[in-house]
Amino acid sequence: MTRITKLVFGIVTLISLAAFSWIPVKDVAPSRPNIIIIFSDDHALKAISAYGSPYVKTPNIDRIGREGAVFENMFCTNSICAPSRATLLTGKYSHINGHRDNQGTFDASQAMFPKYLQQAGYQTAWIGKWHLKATPQYFDFWEVVPGQGLYYNPNFIQMDGKTVRKEGYATNVITDDALNWLESSRDTSKPFCLVIGHKAPHREWQPDTTDLHAFDGKTFPMPATFYDTYEGRKAAQHQDMQIATPTMRLGLDLKVDIDTMPIIKRMNPAQLKAWKAYYDPLNKAFKEQKLTGKALDNWKFQRYMHDYLACILSVDRNVGRVLDYLDKHGMKENTLIMYSSDQGFYLGEHGWFDKRFMYEESLHMPLLVRYPPKLKPGTRTKQLFVNTDFAPTILQTAGVPIPADMQGKSFLPLPKPAESRKAVYYHYYEYPYDHRVMAHFGIRTERYKLIYFYGNGESWEFFDLKTDPDEMKNEYANPKNGAVISQLKRDLKKLTQEYKDTEATEMLAKEGV
Ligand code: CA
Repeated sequence: MTRITKLVFGIVTLISLAAFSWIPVKDVAPSRPNIIIIFSDDHALKAISAYGSPYVKTPNIDRIGREGAVFENMFCTNSICAPSRATLLTGKYSHINGHRDNQGTFDASQAMFPKYLQQAGYQTAWIGKWHLKATPQYFDFWEVVPGQGLYYNPNFIQMDGKTVRKEGYATNVITDDALNWLESSRDTSKPFCLVIGHKAPHREWQPDTTDLHAFDGKTFPMPATFYDTYEGRKAAQHQDMQIATPTMRLGLDLKVDIDTMPIIKRMNPAQLKAWKAYYDPLNKAFKEQKLTGKALDNWKFQRYMHDYLACILSVDRNVGRVLDYLDKHGMKENTLIMYSSDQGFYLGEHGWFDKRFMYEESLHMPLLVRYPPKLKPGTRTKQLFVNTDFAPTILQTAGVPIPADMQGKSFLPLPKPAESRKAVYYHYYEYPYDHRVMAHFGIRTERYKLIYFYGNGESWEFFDLKTDPDEMKNEYANPKNGAVISQLKRDLKKLTQEYKDTEATEMLAKEGV
């Protein structure tokens, strides 16, 4: 090389090094994708603006859908907390993975997606709410809140068995821990799968201090079905989850006397001061009014919505922190990120809070997914999916074979219309506690729903979601639906057989199906 050539070569090399040297080594994308699942608790679709919420704006959660896809029909197979997490992990229905209700301890030694990911060289982590009682397995790192966890200054169980208290608001602290793990603790030579499990917005809906005044002056519209009389629906008549009854507690749930609430004993002075400044004057006014009847119902609804939605604001903000981290570190293209919740929730529809029923509000799970290699920005899909599909989707994305005994299918890439699921199978068990929702199983197609309630008197319900989206009219006994119902029963039986739910198959046989 001549001196000039050497000089030019040297300058080019220096420029090249300068251009690339600012990228930290750990941010060089591994060839296999990373996976992040942000899994909140009890987040109703109607509390997400991407689903047209009339109540709240969730710009960060919406952003996942805008840069990826909004799934309009992702369904839970058993609408309750711990079983939903068991299904997320195993890709199996509750009767197969053994976790049918919130009682008992999950068998965490059984095969589940993190085990297969670990075998394939992935690093796995679960941070936040776990709720399965058993010690997490197949996670290289975990740090989980005990049971339901606490909103303020929560305890965490760590891998060494020790419990530590962390100062701050749960949704922030869980996100801090997740970002710390991403930044400082993970093995950057491996692709990772991280689950961020939020406690929020679970009962008792305790907002962060910064969100207490976010809805000042706002009145939330009551759903048209708030005063549902449950005509023709025996199980709905039998439930115990109405906002208007003492089951929605003025004290612990609605905070009318915060000095008596256990959570304030965990708060630091600044947190308590903010709570007292917000709640005390409102509670004083409430007590002076001595509300009764519908005025009291409305007050309870307004306070419930305020607290629930304020918890959502924190979830949304913390979703934004994770998205910003990925963008800033050049990880957007190579990371599958999903936002979902263990199931939906009632925000006053049918007069209820809580979940459990196979009706639309609690059957639906929110699901927004960003994964540029497989999803065009702004995608919306109405295809039917269920939560047994999560584990197969995660494995397929990671390039890991899906075990034959997993009961779902990958939703990435989106199936062609001809290959999409035609009907969804659901089975709920937990009765009578909490909330006295009878056990039931059923089938939902794009248009129809057929439910069989059992365990305390048997009854069938049939809804045409096209003409009755709020499920107010049980049309099971209407002769004009005879042919549709007969077909749905045959399809329901096939699903119980396909998913090996022998108890349900036997119950159907007794019903002549
Ligand atoms: Ca839940």
